[in-house]
Amino acid sequence: MAAPAVEGVAVTALRAVFHRVRQAAERSGRRPDDVRVVAVSKTKPISLIRQVYDAGHRCFGENYVQEIVEKAPQLPDDIEWHYVGHLQNNKVKSLLAAVPNLAMFEGIDNEKIANHLDRVVSSIGRNPLKVLVQVNTSGEPSKSGVDPSSCLELVKHVKLGCRNLDFSGLMTIGMPDYSSTPENFRALLDCRTEVCKALGIVEDQCELSMGMSGDFEQAIEMGSTNVRIGSTIFGPREYPKKQQ
Ligand SMILES: *Cc1c(COP(=O)(O)O)cnc(C)c1O
Repeated sequence: MAAPAVEGVAVTALRAVFHRVRQAAERSGRRPDDVRVVAVSKTKPISLIRQVYDAGHRCFGENYVQEIVEKAPQLPDDIEWHYVGHLQNNKVKSLLAAVPNLAMFEGIDNEKIANHLDRVVSSIGRNPLKVLVQVNTSGEPSKSGVDPSSCLELVKHVKLGCRNLDFSGLMTIGMPDYSSTPENFRALLDCRTEVCKALGIVEDQCELSMGMSGDFEQAIEMGSTNVRIGSTIFGPREYPKKQQ
């Protein structure tokens, strides 16, 4: 008889993440089930994603369109893929064509990308696509996302003008290290308050995608419903050297 397979490091890491998610939720009087864990697998091979899938996890995220377009068709179609971050307009078609099981697009940062997504969803006849509006809460020019002062306007456009998109909430990246000063998360909460008030949305119906490997517990304590965790599950990423 075959010996039981030794649990892979990514699976062990995933279990540890879930444990920490549970503790953070309980500390802040929230239900652990109200927090979705997106395992961000960018730069990681199919075999590693497969291990985490085989352990029962279904929600994965990618940030480079070429990668998700290549990986998704090779993996089971009950995966709920999240595209996280900025996407160029001319990549919308290939993303939606290759990933019919795209569950959420977390990266609407301007009206044009919203319009493109809306049109392509309609033309391929898939069900409405859940989308999050990305907000640049840290003011860093290197980060994409709409300025908090323009968040409401963009959400209005998505909610009222894009019938094939299902506005589901707000997303932010925040600063890489602000463990002692969560003002970026606070800014996202303020955006939600403004949006929900203006558009008559119940706050529970407006997700907050915030928190990554370095700050997900704090994000959960502040109300995050969706944490995007890459390196803590899959190990550090190695990027190929940039071609000059
Ligand atoms: C890569 C990435 C993550 C995951 O980052 P880690 O720090 O490795 O957890 C989360 N969100 C976005 C938008 C990303 O691009």
